[in-house]
Amino acid sequence: MTNAEKNAGAPVVALEHARKSFGDVEVLHDISLSVAPGEVVAIIGPSGGGKSTLLRCLTLLERLDGGSLSYEDVSVATDGSYGDKNVLAQARARFGLVFQNYNLFPHFSVLRNVMDAPVCVQRRDRAEAEAEARALLAKMGLAGNEDKVPCQLSGGQQQRASIARALAMHPQIVYFDEPTSALDPELTAEVLRVIKQLAAENMTLVIVTHEMGFAREVADRVIFMDGGVIVEEGPAEQVIDHPREARTRAFLAQRE
Ligand code: ADP
Ligand code: MG
Repeated sequence: MTNAEKNAGAPVVALEHARKSFGDVEVLHDISLSVAPGEVVAIIGPSGGGKSTLLRCLTLLERLDGGSLSYEDVSVATDGSYGDKNVLAQARARFGLVFQNYNLFPHFSVLRNVMDAPVCVQRRDRAEAEAEARALLAKMGLAGNEDKVPCQLSGGQQQRASIARALAMHPQIVYFDEPTSALDPELTAEVLRVIKQLAAENMTLVIVTHEMGFAREVADRVIFMDGGVIVEEGPAEQVIDHPREARTRAFLAQRE
């Protein structure tokens, strides 16, 4: 059996008893979360609840102070102690991350933004990486924009380019941190449409979002986070439509 076969059905990512503090303030308290292959998880909750910190820990932009993190067979951290740089590099190849503010390189063309890491980090063949980048941009509705620089695109187009950039690395899981909160409603819809398309293709996705309609429609599981803990999680019909916890109800009521 190959490793991939052995791990079929195993979580793509597993976080256990995660803790994270900034100075003396603990902002993630004993968070456990695992994501199955093909699962779409939406994380909702009030500002300051720890959603971004959680994604930053999952994507190794921040280090846990306690708990364990693994990407399938790659054990990244155990009891808050991290593996060496090879382990971290292996884990980094497993995921993509899409930020609120696109974070495209402003001086690179759209095409170069998408093909740069596959060529420079993954050492893939340039012609093959370019062909794939063009195909991904076309899939994101951006054909004809390859030679522009990011500031020549709308916010929605920039965000779709940053999704293409994440996908170009062939991640097993893609994290989105409020991918539409910087966008007007019209541009939001076009970005949500491409994320929905990825979900329909069975990609494994974790999306922090304030778009409750979108979460309800696309997520297999909704997690409500507040105060650095997972307050409630379950199918969208449960968490969004019939929340059990008073804190979840208060959050949802205030958004209506
Ligand atoms: P959310 O994304 O749910 O709005 P965050 O993860 O950004 O929440 O923040 C959770 C808590 O951690 C907040 O109290 C925030 O002020 C704090 N925090 C986040 N990043 C830092 C940091 N780099 N240094 C100090 N405190 C931080
Ligand atoms: Mg945030």
